[in-house]
Amino acid sequence: MQLPRLEQEELRGKRVFLRVDFNVPLENGKVTDKTRIEKTLPTIELLIKKGAKIVIGSHLGRPKGKPDPQFSMEPVFEVFQGLVSVPVFFSKDVVGEQANQLSKQLKEGEILVLENLRFHKEEEENEAGFCKKLASLADVYVNDAFGAAHRAHASTEGIAHLLPSFAGLLMYKEITELSSLLSRPAKPFVAIIGGSKVSSKISVIKNLIDKVDHILIGGGMTYTFLKSRAIPVGNSLVERDFEVEAFQLIERAGVAGVDFQLPVDHIIADKFDPKAKTKTVDKMGILDGWMGMDIGPKTVSNYEKVIKNASTIVWNGPMGVFEFDKFAEGTMAIAKAVSKSKAKTVVGGGDSIAAINKAKVEDKITHVSTGGGASLEFLEGKKLPGVQALLKQPE
Ligand code: AMP
Repeated sequence: MQLPRLEQEELRGKRVFLRVDFNVPLENGKVTDKTRIEKTLPTIELLIKKGAKIVIGSHLGRPKGKPDPQFSMEPVFEVFQGLVSVPVFFSKDVVGEQANQLSKQLKEGEILVLENLRFHKEEEENEAGFCKKLASLADVYVNDAFGAAHRAHASTEGIAHLLPSFAGLLMYKEITELSSLLSRPAKPFVAIIGGSKVSSKISVIKNLIDKVDHILIGGGMTYTFLKSRAIPVGNSLVERDFEVEAFQLIERAGVAGVDFQLPVDHIIADKFDPKAKTKTVDKMGILDGWMGMDIGPKTVSNYEKVIKNASTIVWNGPMGVFEFDKFAEGTMAIAKAVSKSKAKTVVGGGDSIAAINKAKVEDKITHVSTGGGASLEFLEGKKLPGVQALLKQPE
């Protein structure tokens, strides 16, 4: 996939509409984690160096297509302002008089941050008129919002058909790293798949099954797989509607010669509660009245052996209810094993990233994907509209 790159482009004095993913967590109107803003800084610094006039657009939360003060970009703008050394302005509208005026007044290297794109329902509708208005704010479009690339919205898709368009540095890195997993990854290739539900990961497993050598399963989805093999799971989380598909997946892995491993022991609890009574069960099955909350020590040791020999690892989803300390050990152990591995390691999905951060090993991972939904869809083999639009340039 040849994404149009930014590095060689002459942008001095040109207005650039830069779509970013500044959809950061807020608490009482304050940004609680600025990682997503920081990840875009290399692109912004490059644009500043090139003398571009930068118009930044992002969504924030789900304001339902109309202005809603609790989703204003203003607190994000304030944090962002502290991270760059050039003048930054804020427009209280997106495509109105103020945005128009301010975008025209920008000098080389200066930045304008627009209000939340999703204050207009036309953004998510990818409405043609709105795309035109966004495009009128700039001469060039750069998309660095990998986290929103699976959405065909005006600022991620429509606008790319109206302006010369480029991938930002973060977008380029994400696509390059994730693509390398799907095309000729170094072997052995290990997929570690966890998280709550089989239903949300089944398409990823299906797409990876012909590419990987090992699949290591953890988290809540374990119990649908076990149930499908008639192994008792007590009160553990089970998606009844997916038992047949889970069973078929295990069969398919067998046919493809993939080593498909399920947990062989568990940390169980009498209820879903951080203070629950817990036990370690040294077998696959779980008795009535108990629920599986984390992988057990034998499973950790089995998985560590596979991870140690891997050349490529992709990890998506925690191994247990890691938000509760009593059930975080399995996930932490896997995070550490992945970080120690010499393999190329790619971690995706909000909760796996939180686990990597909790284990303090982020700097030892080859690539931590910023887009939960987008990286899942990419690994499912789907084409992301925001990426496809960059490949088709305006006539
Ligand atoms: P996902 O967003 O699908 O990656 O799922 C992440 C969520 O799965 C986390 O909030 C975990 O608490 C949850 N989870 C992991 N293991 C279990 C389990 N054994 N039972 C219930 N939920 C789990």
